[in-house]
Amino acid sequence: MYLEKPLIGWGVGRNWPVRYNVSFGILWMTTTLTGLNCVTCGRRFGPDGPWMTCPDCGPDDGILDVQYDLDAVRAGWKAAPLADRPLTHWRYRELLPLEPGSVRDDWRVGWTPVIDASRLAKELGLKQLLLKDEGRNPTASFKDRASSVGVAHALQLNAKTIACASTGNAATSLAGHAALAGMPCVIFVPHTAPEPKLAQLLVFGATVIAVQGSYDQAYQLCSQACEKFGWYNRNCAINPVLVEGKKTGGLEVAEQSASFGGVPDWVAVSVGDGCTIAGVWKGLSEMHQLGVIDRLPRLLGVQAKGVAPIAYALEHGSMPDEVQDGGTVADSINVAVPRNWRKAVNALKEAHGVVVSVDDNQILDAMRTSGRHGVYAEPAAAAALAGVTSAVANGIISGGTGGDRVLAMVTGSGLKDTRAAIQAGGEPIKIEPDLDTLASAIQDRGVIDGAG
Ligand SMILES: *Cc1c(COP(=O)(O)O)cnc(C)c1O
Repeated sequence: MYLEKPLIGWGVGRNWPVRYNVSFGILWMTTTLTGLNCVTCGRRFGPDGPWMTCPDCGPDDGILDVQYDLDAVRAGWKAAPLADRPLTHWRYRELLPLEPGSVRDDWRVGWTPVIDASRLAKELGLKQLLLKDEGRNPTASFKDRASSVGVAHALQLNAKTIACASTGNAATSLAGHAALAGMPCVIFVPHTAPEPKLAQLLVFGATVIAVQGSYDQAYQLCSQACEKFGWYNRNCAINPVLVEGKKTGGLEVAEQSASFGGVPDWVAVSVGDGCTIAGVWKGLSEMHQLGVIDRLPRLLGVQAKGVAPIAYALEHGSMPDEVQDGGTVADSINVAVPRNWRKAVNALKEAHGVVVSVDDNQILDAMRTSGRHGVYAEPAAAAALAGVTSAVANGIISGGTGGDRVLAMVTGSGLKDTRAAIQAGGEPIKIEPDLDTLASAIQDRGVIDGAG
């Protein structure tokens, strides 16, 4: 049985729609959750799981996808309109596989601002350019959407310890949310993870295992450890609940689009494992099915040159035979063996999507550019903007006043990787404390009369 706690009383007093009925002494589940489907073989499972991978297809191929009764969701929104709800991603509770009691509203994740970068749009020759600043989440990345839902789910299953392997942000967000919940947390990171991310992990009190190997090896070790020790596995690639958290990014873009001129023509997302882009697409699609938006955007997936297996998979329908591991400054998308490529490729296909690859110079340029327009992005987050720039140059996205409206997901804050930020940002002006020296040092910068 999916629910193990007493049921009566939920739904009242907490402003949750009633999800469960008790009649004739029998429990009837009227939850919005209907079950899970295997994305490979299509097998359907009920709401009581399994909550990892399909037993027929195995842990590598048997990725599951959570399904809802959208009529029940509509009924929930009618009873308690979205407009009256807190401005966090918990506002979409009917579209999350969680029991009411396991969510804490004070974990303020989501409802991140969408910034209208009109000057930058003009520079790039776009009709509109919007930057959704995910760096404003509690641990400063998009991953908080997934980790908050993962920790709530782990609490619901009475897990004692939660673990994940991560290039950095999934780990820091998990460590933060586990700390909020008071749950022990074990993190596997490649030893190359940027220091600011490591610092977050250690301060949040996670047990940090720095694996002397790649992310892929850290991932394998984490999976084995979860199996052996019975820990809750927060890896998005195999845990379908996490993608539901990531989905809220797409739900929000859809809901917020009313305030920026309607659904954008393109949504740009950087791609590592592929769960973010798949989640964002799922959220957009659900909002389309629910009638909140009347059309869907196309997706622009952005990968780093040298580590672009999903670009290959979209074209060929399979992973490349040889692992490409050319490395990139964008550590968060440095994923040579993506676990969720099928979900990502399915999303891209449905969305008439395109994948572009950008090199480190383009990424550092985009970091500087987004910063110059008020958004501080880490390399993998700036990659989305670099991809937009490249797609405009290649004619994939149409420019000009009659051209496209684009939203880029800026998935993490520049504070996450100060070394790359300094590389992108340049040097300060070093001078003696003297006014004349100052005047001559800055005379060509246009800051004295504000003309710069
Ligand atoms: C994780 C991450 C991504 C990519 O998400 P995937 O699910 O791995 O595709 C992009 N940007 C940032 C900042 C991330 O942390």
